[in-house]
Amino acid sequence: MTRIALPSQARVVVVGGGVIGTSVAYHLGLLGWQDIVLLERDRLTSGTPPA
Ligand SMILES: Cc1cc2nc3c(=O)[nH]c(=O)nc-3n(C[C@H](O)[C@H](O)[C@H](O)COP(=O)(O)OP(=O)(O)OC[C@H]3O[C@@H](n4cnc5c(N)ncnc54)[C@H](O)[C@@H]3O)c2cc1C
Repeated sequence: MTRIALPSQARVVVVGGGVIGTSVAYHLGLLGWQDIVLLERDRLTSGTPPA
């Protein structure tokens, strides 16, 4: 597992990299928001069941 240092603060912290969390982070970025941290405990979209 690769460990990276997390920032001590952020404007937005999204917990969970499922379809909702990634979409929120993506759309905030499109709107020009910066300083967004997305926390995922496993892998992105790992909570979404396979088709
Ligand atoms: C069995 C089943 C079948 C389904 N079939 C369909 C379907 O056919 N079509 C359809 O449209 N929808 C389907 N759904 C619904 C769809 O999967 C959900 O609506 C969708 O995945 C919800 O997205 P989400 O981002 O809210 O949550 P999730 O996709 O569950 O993502 C949550 C993410 O958050 C992470 N996470 C959780 N807790 C933490 C924490 N404390 N810290 C960091 N990360 C965390 C998880 O690892 C995961 O990656 C199905 C659901 C189930 C259970």
